[in-house]
Amino acid sequence: MSDPNELTVLNPATEETVATVPAASEEDVAAAVARAVRAQRTWAAVAPADRARLLRRFADVVDTRAEELARLEVREAGHTLGTARWEAGNARDLLLYAAGGAERLLGRQIPAPGGWDVTFHEPLGVVGVIAPWNFPMPIAAWGSFPALAAGNAVVLKPAEATPLTAVRLAALALEAGLPEHLFQVLPGYGTTAGRALVDHPDVAKIVFTGSTRTGREVMERCARLVKPVTLELGGKSPNVVFADADLTAALDPFSFLDNSGQDCCARTRVLVQESVLDEARALLADALAAVVVGDPADEKTQMGPLISARQRERVRSYVPDDAPALRGGAPDGPGFWFPPTVLTGERHDSRAAREEIFGPVAVLLPFTDEQDAVRLANDTPYGLSGSIWTRDVGRALRVSQAVRAGNLSVNSHSSVRYWTPFGGFKQSGLGRELGPDALTAFTATKNVFISTEGPVQ
Ligand code: NAD
Repeated sequence: MSDPNELTVLNPATEETVATVPAASEEDVAAAVARAVRAQRTWAAVAPADRARLLRRFADVVDTRAEELARLEVREAGHTLGTARWEAGNARDLLLYAAGGAERLLGRQIPAPGGWDVTFHEPLGVVGVIAPWNFPMPIAAWGSFPALAAGNAVVLKPAEATPLTAVRLAALALEAGLPEHLFQVLPGYGTTAGRALVDHPDVAKIVFTGSTRTGREVMERCARLVKPVTLELGGKSPNVVFADADLTAALDPFSFLDNSGQDCCARTRVLVQESVLDEARALLADALAAVVVGDPADEKTQMGPLISARQRERVRSYVPDDAPALRGGAPDGPGFWFPPTVLTGERHDSRAAREEIFGPVAVLLPFTDEQDAVRLANDTPYGLSGSIWTRDVGRALRVSQAVRAGNLSVNSHSSVRYWTPFGGFKQSGLGRELGPDALTAFTATKNVFISTEGPVQ
């Protein structure tokens, strides 16, 4: 039974306690929002170039502390050092990108008879950000930094298991000279602090990243207040591999093993044209056997543990011991380990092929031709990411038009770039983060008509 006043952060690789952190109550959330409302009024009046200057200074501080942040992420989330370093760099880069956005957030002048008509992008006020445990640092950054750049204040609630890097980022913001209470991080439970943030009338927008189930509840609560919401939810993304593809690159196991498979963009449905299915199976078997699973703080490690015992139980429930599968190795406990696995005996409509497992487990499924590939790729309630592998340019274009997902890559497994929009179709979410429109999503458009009626002087 967890203590409602406290969060215990465990190192997933050792099961040792890294820290205990006070959990925010509903009253704590209300007090933080009240402070944020005041901070935001001052911030919105700061000239965009000065806001940008402060955010660039924040980026410099993050850069100086990048290794410290990365090592903290390794301890609280079990991420490999490589992943954690990428995360810290992503937070820094997004700060720089958002700072530039602050200087380019322009309105428009629209021709109107009898006057001048102008539109403004006004900040919303206080933005509430709710983050999951799988990528604590970047997801905290994606929801918060463009919002700050656009003139808002942010109250962020990190996930129960991983509050530490977000708390550290807020401290670094102060060190860089950002105004007090502009970027507040409140560790806490979803059903207490999370709900209080969503329900607070002075929180003008919610950015939620997490499971589709919780996202649905957040959206329902926002609907009661007609509050805008961005939802970044689950995925079950296809990796569509045609027979003419570079099979070794296409079947890179880190397309579904990255972050131990706890990646919303993981390509966990490996759809392979049946004429090369045996070759694909052999390549995947060799690749899984070679994955280095172990201490995430070791530079040579390629895959770390799962976040928790609960998550490991969940992943296990999809992989019975006698399931036909290709398997790699994993250490014994302590630590929440699970071996890299590709299930080879699944049907398209089986539980493992349809549900988001969120662990290092993919399913290998054959398809016959282009039409069959598109049908299978789209046969899911999700629509976040996907890869298409073929040397036929026409086919690559046709399939990328036909697959219903927010982020596709052709002959690549790349999903996330801070300068391109990111978000899901269908039950993978609503709205977009990152990219050139990231700041506009945290503004309200106001139109003002100014009459010029009267005699010309
Ligand atoms: P989760 O839905 O359990 O929790 C996410 C966050 O919501 C946590 O901070 C949690 O405390 C909070 N929360 C829980 N109940 C709440 C409530 N009733 N009201 C308000 N907040 C509440 O998700 P998780 O298990 O932490 O994260 C894994 C999920 O996140 C996966 O489904 C994954 O696909 C998804 N995800 C999506 C993206 C994306 O960009 N689309 C990125 C990363 C993770």
